[in-house]
Amino acid sequence: MIPIARPQLGTEEKELVWAVMDSGSLAQGARVREFEEQFAALIGTEHAVATSSGTTALHLALLGYGIGPGDEVITVPFTFIASANSVLYTGARPVFVDIDERDFTMDPALVEAAITPRTRAIMPVSLYGQPARMVELAEIAARRGLELIEDACQSHGAAIGERRSGTWGVGTFSFYPTKNMTTGEGGILTTDDGELAERMRLLREHGMKVRYHHDIVGYNFRMTDIAAAIGLGQIGKLAGYNQRRREIAARYDAELRGVVTPFVRADVTHVYHQYTVRVRARDAFAEALRSRGVGSAIYYPIPVHRQTPFVARGYGGESYPVTDRLTEEVLSIPVHPSLSDDEVATVIGAVNDTAAELGAHEPETEPEPGRSVP
Ligand SMILES: *Cc1c(COP(=O)(O)O)cnc(C)c1O
Repeated sequence: MIPIARPQLGTEEKELVWAVMDSGSLAQGARVREFEEQFAALIGTEHAVATSSGTTALHLALLGYGIGPGDEVITVPFTFIASANSVLYTGARPVFVDIDERDFTMDPALVEAAITPRTRAIMPVSLYGQPARMVELAEIAARRGLELIEDACQSHGAAIGERRSGTWGVGTFSFYPTKNMTTGEGGILTTDDGELAERMRLLREHGMKVRYHHDIVGYNFRMTDIAAAIGLGQIGKLAGYNQRRREIAARYDAELRGVVTPFVRADVTHVYHQYTVRVRARDAFAEALRSRGVGSAIYYPIPVHRQTPFVARGYGGESYPVTDRLTEEVLSIPVHPSLSDDEVATVIGAVNDTAAELGAHEPETEPEPGRSVP
């Protein structure tokens, strides 16, 4: 079975981790600091603050902006639940807006109508490796006096023009093993706002600048030096990983038949955290791929507003028609950089045979064809 994800770790990561274990200082220390500096340089921000996960990075961004009970944060229901859960952790209320059918990210045209006097921030998600419409969203946020938090947990190295994901407001990344680069578990925040970075550092460490002197109620959201060592090995490989993902995606774009391939906006560098197609009879499609030796996954089978804890909080009655429709149709196929050319050919054959068997997908509104230029 060709798996949907296959993390690649080499001797470099092993040696770096070994050195940390030999040093005897395992918790947040010099390796974390070094990883933060290298990641900020990679993304192109002044500051980076490493965390224990992407989820704690999102939580810390909201805490850093002082968002809490009585506040509202605008986000999307078509995402991993952590985006919206981070808002709940603070006591604030997530307010959902629908996504654009073509690129699966927050539709900026719907944002203004969702803004109320309680709105404090907009949290778009750069899903599957394509940045959300950050330029339009940054304009709305600036005009309406709102903070902008980009959930960039799937878009390491993605860009709009020359500007990378994570450079608007504050960006949050995850290093979970299936992401474009990993630290085992881990996350990081990127920003040019020095005061925000300082507040987030304080909140990450129990409000402590001087050891055991606590200025505020903080948290333990620290990354370990062991995780940072893995990250230091991975960071130099990200560009090559992303390039390989883009090469595979370009072959899929050219050779897949009977499925709707991803739409990529003209000014975007997509890094294909996932290669997600729209298919007919999705569950049968996934089963047929499986029988042909190809793994696949549904990101995500239930939109956030229909998940049990959100229904319990009064969500679930609203309609987000694009989200609801795409939830029934999306299927992600393997696009990770460790795929061999033979495996890529196997995936293409399996998808095309399955689409021929089950019928081609013809959406009501045909999106413009995707373009993936490696
Ligand atoms: C992975 C992910 C997260 C959470 O990251 P963890 O490191 O697993 O906590 C948040 N949002 C999105 C969109 C993700 O894909």
